[in-house]
Amino acid sequence: MSDDAPPAVPHRKLGPGRLVIASHNQGKVREIGALLAPYGIETVSAGALDLPEPEETGTTFAANAELKARAAADLSGLPALADDSGLCVEALGGDPGIFSARWAGPSKDFGVAMQAVEDAIRKVGPEAGRDAHFVCALSLCWPDGHIETFEGRVDGTLAWPPRGDNGFGYDAMFVPLGATQTYGEIDPDVKHRVSHRADAFAKLTAAVF
Ligand code: IMP
Repeated sequence: MSDDAPPAVPHRKLGPGRLVIASHNQGKVREIGALLAPYGIETVSAGALDLPEPEETGTTFAANAELKARAAADLSGLPALADDSGLCVEALGGDPGIFSARWAGPSKDFGVAMQAVEDAIRKVGPEAGRDAHFVCALSLCWPDGHIETFEGRVDGTLAWPPRGDNGFGYDAMFVPLGATQTYGEIDPDVKHRVSHRADAFAKLTAAVF
């Protein structure tokens, strides 16, 4: 390392106490609350505090996670944690990416979203590969504006037709590298241990606890 390299900025530690989960998605709130309970963190959801959902205007997962965490910390006066995640398909230049939830349309039908992904790949042509990855960005923001962001990723390929009823979103068409079953077929406990969200969480807990 050269002498003028900037010093590594130490991570800020999160002490026991209340933390807002900046999400109105009950599934995410429950999953994150359970992951934080062993660290003495009492979680409260943005929904329970009646906090408005900010518009996701960022162009990256990290930017969207950061704006959600910052809005919740500003309004509540408590540390806030936000998650932004999605599926990126290499042959589609990373789509649906940050628009993963929107591809499901107003009825939030992920059968429709998975069909749209499949149609878009076929439109690219027979040479289109089926490589894809899930990304999860987790941002933790303190009321004084300090923010820490961690990103997790899992690579895989896309199956068609979708298989398995476990999981949600695009799970039924995603086969993680080294596996033969889709996330929709794998035992949810196994998925939760190896997922992009677990990867981001492992980085967060190693840094802030
Ligand atoms: P967000 O709530 O804006 O972060 O949207 C995330 C969207 O990405 C979800 O609605 C799902 O469509 C998709 N997604 C994220 N994580 C997963 C996963 O683990 N399995 C399947 N789909 C996921």
